[in-house]
Amino acid sequence: MTFAVLAGVLGLVWLSIKYAWWRPPASAGWPRLLMYHMISAPRAGARFNGLRVPPAMFERQLRWLRDHGWQSFTVSELVESGDRLPEKSFAITFDDGYADNLLAALPLLQKYRCKATLYLVVERFDRDWSLARKAHYDEGELMREVKLSDEQVAKMLAAGCVELGSHSMTHANFLYLDVAATRRELADSRQALEKRFGVAVKSFAWPFGLYRPEQVPLVGEAGYSSAVTVREGIESPARWQPLALKRIKISGKDNWFAFRLRLRTGRKGWR
Ligand SMILES: [Zn+2]
Repeated sequence: MTFAVLAGVLGLVWLSIKYAWWRPPASAGWPRLLMYHMISAPRAGARFNGLRVPPAMFERQLRWLRDHGWQSFTVSELVESGDRLPEKSFAITFDDGYADNLLAALPLLQKYRCKATLYLVVERFDRDWSLARKAHYDEGELMREVKLSDEQVAKMLAAGCVELGSHSMTHANFLYLDVAATRRELADSRQALEKRFGVAVKSFAWPFGLYRPEQVPLVGEAGYSSAVTVREGIESPARWQPLALKRIKISGKDNWFAFRLRLRTGRKGWR
């Protein structure tokens, strides 16, 4: 009996540390920027299953947002409207440019009347960018993942609910780029995307969310008005740094409770 009580208490302590459910919710007036990569089933033994949100889970999330009065915007719309946004505003973002963004995500975006911002790597084919993060990430898992062709990107844009953003030319690790290379990754990718797809490209996503502080103004110089990071959180538009916006990580490894917590507080757990 005593052991059962002790185990119960320890279990509650563990759950409290894991989920930090006591953290106060961020104001409904502070927009949520949701970060997705793939909308697909997990793969057995894969390293990056956190980046794979199953379609049924994605649909449940979109349905919940709609049913609870959340309104969808592109990242540029959020940044341009700033503190004039309605309560319960959110943006969906997809990084890298996986084919399932068109095949699995777009039909659901349309079904629930949601917008999204697609951060596309220009040279995304046969490239193993995981190595630029950690040399031992050499399984080629993300390289083998099917990417959006240019024709598929054009289809997504033709749907009318998708903003095109840049995720650099090569998904470089910006920590190792000098000023000239930084300028190239920023400016060349914007020009290439605008020329290829005939749309204005105003938003950028830092590859891996990595950069040095002195690189931030270069994003503005390259013609972007916003940039998103992988730093987790929810902020008041009054405090936004438009070239280093925080997002909420949506993980394929999360359960429903964790998704709801992230929407409330910007993150899961005690960190
Ligand atoms: Zn990426």
